[in-house]
Amino acid sequence: MRREHLLKIGVSGIRGVVGEFLTPALACSFGQAFGSYVGRGRVIVGRDTRATGEMLQHAVQCGLLAAGCEVIDVGVLPTPTIQMYVGATGAHGGIAVTASHNPPEYNALKLFNGHGLFFNHYERTELIDLYHQSDFYQAGNDEIRGIRCDYESPALLHIERVLRHVDAALIRKRRFRVALDGVNGAASVMTPRFLTETLGCRLDAISVDPTKPFPREAEPRPDTLGDLAALVTARGCEIGFAQDPDGDRLAVADENGRVLDNDDVLALAVDAALERLPGDVVVNLTTSSVIDDIAAAHGRKVFRTPVGEANVVEMMQAVNAVIGGEGSNGGIIFPAVHLCRDSFTGMAFLLERMAKTGATVSELAAGLPRYYRKLGKVAFEHGALGTLMQGLEDRFPDAEADRSDGLKLQWPGRWVHVRASNTEPLLRLAAEAREVSAMEDLYGTVTALLLNGQPADRAE
Ligand code: MG
Repeated sequence: MRREHLLKIGVSGIRGVVGEFLTPALACSFGQAFGSYVGRGRVIVGRDTRATGEMLQHAVQCGLLAAGCEVIDVGVLPTPTIQMYVGATGAHGGIAVTASHNPPEYNALKLFNGHGLFFNHYERTELIDLYHQSDFYQAGNDEIRGIRCDYESPALLHIERVLRHVDAALIRKRRFRVALDGVNGAASVMTPRFLTETLGCRLDAISVDPTKPFPREAEPRPDTLGDLAALVTARGCEIGFAQDPDGDRLAVADENGRVLDNDDVLALAVDAALERLPGDVVVNLTTSSVIDDIAAAHGRKVFRTPVGEANVVEMMQAVNAVIGGEGSNGGIIFPAVHLCRDSFTGMAFLLERMAKTGATVSELAAGLPRYYRKLGKVAFEHGALGTLMQGLEDRFPDAEADRSDGLKLQWPGRWVHVRASNTEPLLRLAAEAREVSAMEDLYGTVTALLLNGQPADRAE
């Protein structure tokens, strides 16, 4: 991996390998910059369970205190829970110390404004400028405030919000047998309570010890969730859930242990939301066309954005969307609960759907319009990106092209999307079609074009 990926300070905040690159001193400076930017006031700080979390949280809090902020330490909590608490408590902002699905040696700061939303592009740019100029507020003795801890209220607030939008009594009545893989992450304590105490499920859980390391690759995908699949079949569970280390992403396994495509999970949530509320849908460019079909069936529109939760959320605000998300990234965003990716809303929606229809998860998934999808990646040489994208566009002059995030080429019933990863020197490739042969053709042709456009041996 190239060096610039080991530490990134930019418009998406700050992320890096802790120790050599992302240091406590840097986190402290960034905390002081953040505190100066949000105008001192109250700032909520929480974290996920990775080993460096507590150290970096202290460092960030030190910087916030130096800028004259009042710090509320909410401890280990899912990112969506922290975001809701920021919005509900009149705080000036919030910081989650989490590198989400990145490997355990990484950590990062997720930054929220006073509404508990990701900083928009304008806010991020201003904060980064302030950080680089070291133009920090330094509180005097009489302005220094303290740290208060609140480890209970945020979770209660979050659960109460979700319960406003599902029929919990109906779910409880079914006493669903549910499997959970919490990756020993930030939701490890909250999710078992939510599923058993709130929703009355009979739970078989693995990896719900927040003091232990991540037992699997952190990103919840079909190829990383073998243990969950085995648990579902061994215990005869009706559904299996898996989260990422900061609890915003959700993956779902059916009663046979087959992990659903995340786009299909989002589609089921979109269908559930459109059934009960008016409004349109926002998803990223890489999300399946299954969402368009579901929205069309309800007479709604779909807006598409570049990949990234902040992009989806900004568009959702602009069009007052009723639901949104990022299919392949396992994110369901339901603004009636909060404008953020939230695995808890997703779990409640799925269980309510099963309770209402009496259908199994595999039956619900089988009821969705069928598309074939393939995701992949191709390593690329620095500087080759422009040529590769232009070559692709020239090869398919009949396609409708969208250049707002890499290149998406679209035809009726099929599309391909190629974009450079924000975190690694890779091109991410997604292809979809109604027929498996058309999808394989498109995927193969585009992969070959990307490989032939640069020196050999770059594929992964
Ligand atoms: Mg996450």
